[in-house]
Amino acid sequence: MQIYADNAATTKMSAAATEAMTDCIKNWWGNPSSLYTIGQKAKEKLEEARAQTAVVINAEPREIIFTSGGSESDNQALLTAAVIGKKQGKTHIISSAFEHHAILHTLNKLKKNGFEVTLLPVHENGIIRADELEAAIREDTCLVTIMTANNEIGTIQPVAEIGDICRRHGVLFHTDAVQAVGHIPIDVKALSIDMLSASAHKFHGPKGVGFLYVRKGIVLQNLIEGGAQERGKRAGTENLPGIAAMTAALKEAAANMERDNAHKTEIRDHIIRGLSEITHSALNGDAERRLSGNVNFSFEGIEGESILILLDQKGISASSGSACTSGALDPSHVLLAIGRIHDVAHGSLRLSIGEDITMEEADYIIDSVKEVVAHLRGFSPVWRDLTEGKKEFILK
Ligand SMILES: *Cc1c(COP(=O)(O)O)cnc(C)c1O
Repeated sequence: MQIYADNAATTKMSAAATEAMTDCIKNWWGNPSSLYTIGQKAKEKLEEARAQTAVVINAEPREIIFTSGGSESDNQALLTAAVIGKKQGKTHIISSAFEHHAILHTLNKLKKNGFEVTLLPVHENGIIRADELEAAIREDTCLVTIMTANNEIGTIQPVAEIGDICRRHGVLFHTDAVQAVGHIPIDVKALSIDMLSASAHKFHGPKGVGFLYVRKGIVLQNLIEGGAQERGKRAGTENLPGIAAMTAALKEAAANMERDNAHKTEIRDHIIRGLSEITHSALNGDAERRLSGNVNFSFEGIEGESILILLDQKGISASSGSACTSGALDPSHVLLAIGRIHDVAHGSLRLSIGEDITMEEADYIIDSVKEVVAHLRGFSPVWRDLTEGKKEFILK
């Protein structure tokens, strides 16, 4: 069996997205900035995509800027808020300890430029508390940036409450909604969101394309200078095939969202029940307030990397709780943020299931993980110390 269970890392392009991309490459290849008919046809396609994207999140077309993906959108949103804040003498930013590195690394850069950053705790359930956010807001707070859903543990944040608090205090609210757009309903107006980042390849669109929603009235700062594309806020000839494919994927995801979530929730909870039978294991993040596709477990006495290799041999693609980006075995900052100690965070597994997963596949995953965990514990010195009582178990 071959099961792709790493949809939080990237998704396979849908047939509709692939078709939209091919159609664009063949038939809409003009430069949208050109004045002759071929260019203007491409321009029409671009603006159609913008309008259709806007509808999905209840924005206006001119509030959508197409970018190269989630990282760029996050960077541009934070830079924009920082420039606006600085002009008003406000240099305090509130975020959380488990944001994506596109946010955390940008915040570190802003810190070097005189900004002060408060990282809210995310607690054991992986959810920030609105009252703690409100208490952290100061006179000089210019921005709150909190992700809509976490990419590792799938927990969904109280975005409506956060938006409401920010609006009342006159603070800009940005949310990294890369894991949420196309997966859960998002209405930027109802949620009082000022800026929102999204990325196509997390909802069956292509890689290297995404968008930034910016509420009208907020003046964006450019990351890329040059031509007047995207209202002058993001230079460079538009990636029209990517944008058209993203739009097709987004429309499809929005249309099927309810059905897909119902199915994935059922499978997710089945997998969670199955893996809970493994002794000295624990689900990471709240059991209910999480994305329908996310299962994240810690198993005591093993290392995440070795689980992945053995699961891969069984045809299952999954991800661990260690940061592979650096090549080093640093435990995930997300798992540390919810209070998992180093050793436990190391033995973690993220399964992010897709819409087409079946119950048989779910059972195969459960059986495979049980087998692999038992196998690895069989020759783990840490596990031996734990069972012999030389070390104390942390997970029940
Ligand atoms: C994937 C991801 C990003 C980065 O998006 P790219 O399009 O790959 O740059 C940012 N934030 C979150 C939460 C993500 O899951």
